[in-house]
Amino acid sequence: MSEIFGRIKKEKKRIEENKNDKHGRYRVNKAEYKTILIHNIPYFFTCDETDKLRYFSNHSIVIENDIIKAVESAEKFNPDEFDLVYDAGKRGGTVITPGFINAHAHPPMYLLRSSMDLDEGDNIDKTLAKLPKWESKMDEDDLALSTVGDLTEQQKFGVTTTFSHYNCFDPIEEAAKLTAQNVINGISVASHVSPENSPALIEKLLKEKKGSHSRLAMAVHYLYKASPEVLSSVRELVEKHNLLFTCHMSESEKVIEETLKNHKMREVEVLEHYGLLNKNTIISHAIHLREEEIGRVSNAGVGIVHLPTSNRIHKSGVFPYWSYYDKGAFKNIALGTDSVVSKSRLDILTEAYRARTTHLYIKTIKFGSLFKMMTINGAKILDMPRHGRILPGYKADLAFWKLKDRGFIPFDSNNPFSLIGNIITHSGRVARDVMIGGKFVIRSRKHLLIDESKLFDVLQERHMEVRRKVREE
Ligand SMILES: [Zn+2]
Repeated sequence: MSEIFGRIKKEKKRIEENKNDKHGRYRVNKAEYKTILIHNIPYFFTCDETDKLRYFSNHSIVIENDIIKAVESAEKFNPDEFDLVYDAGKRGGTVITPGFINAHAHPPMYLLRSSMDLDEGDNIDKTLAKLPKWESKMDEDDLALSTVGDLTEQQKFGVTTTFSHYNCFDPIEEAAKLTAQNVINGISVASHVSPENSPALIEKLLKEKKGSHSRLAMAVHYLYKASPEVLSSVRELVEKHNLLFTCHMSESEKVIEETLKNHKMREVEVLEHYGLLNKNTIISHAIHLREEEIGRVSNAGVGIVHLPTSNRIHKSGVFPYWSYYDKGAFKNIALGTDSVVSKSRLDILTEAYRARTTHLYIKTIKFGSLFKMMTINGAKILDMPRHGRILPGYKADLAFWKLKDRGFIPFDSNNPFSLIGNIITHSGRVARDVMIGGKFVIRSRKHLLIDESKLFDVLQERHMEVRRKVREE
């Protein structure tokens, strides 16, 4: 890991090591910055404490360490009093949103981009059958490198929090630390690839990995793959340590059949039976549920991740968005990318737009609702109550978007909410700057922690190596 990370790590990192740019937006008053003023912001968007979507015009944001301290109109602040000043009014201006939340991803699979015939017509069951062959050829270095590739791509698109679902802890932890991404590290407790994975491993990790950058959670790929003993232990661990638990659910009819075969129950019943139908559980896809099951999931406050591109690519079916909505589950629905095997472009804006175009035959999802799914709903289901909003007391996770750009211009300046519609429908934009926990990780579209040019070289090398191993098998 160290050799690979050595190659892709930026030698000059962080903004304090960069010179002031007279014409630019950054002014460094103190190299080791602790107080930051994001000044003269033409527009920023956030939900307030009552979940109402609001815009602020010509405001400034004060950040101390990793926390937003104040949000006030710009004239109240003297830029000389801050260690670092980012003038968001300069050079055509900047629009700021909370960093987006990706509630379902498999970052260690990034190296498999182009390996799975993404568009060639296979369904999810066929694609999944091919996966173990490729995954078994990847070592720990590959998994860590993949995760760096995946997380940094997400960051480029303004995503600052990722719920990772995979079968090992260390490579994801290392990559999360290196990239500074907020990562929930969901580890499979029942895995064919890693048979040693078990609830006991989770207990061990909880002890050994205290203070880790990523936050430990539990996962099973599908419920039918987990034994009754495993599911009972998962419940005990959830209760004892307040951990999150996640699984794919009802992604295809085959999954439902397998669950009936192994557990003699449908998936929602399995969750209920093992005491897992509650707010600590997050289900992904959740397509082929009966109406009454949607009701039970909604009433129980289970987190639900909608992955419209993955569902389309794999012909999995259509997520019954409006059924969940009508049963009161909206606040628990977030968006996710899945891996590059299911969606090559790892951004949340295109997922928001695809959600809109997928469900409009019944009713159109409003832009404000899509914004909430990318921010506060994700924070809610991932139990991150201090993330997803630009308000005092919240974590300073911010995405900065160039205003004078395609995708924003023209907009209705009498109704700045039109910018939200523009960014979603134009979709998939690259953020100009990204801040996580009060530190810039991307500045003027350049990653400050990773040498992307070297990253691409190493990714390409290792991808061809894995390809060779698969061919020779
Ligand atoms: Zn998935």
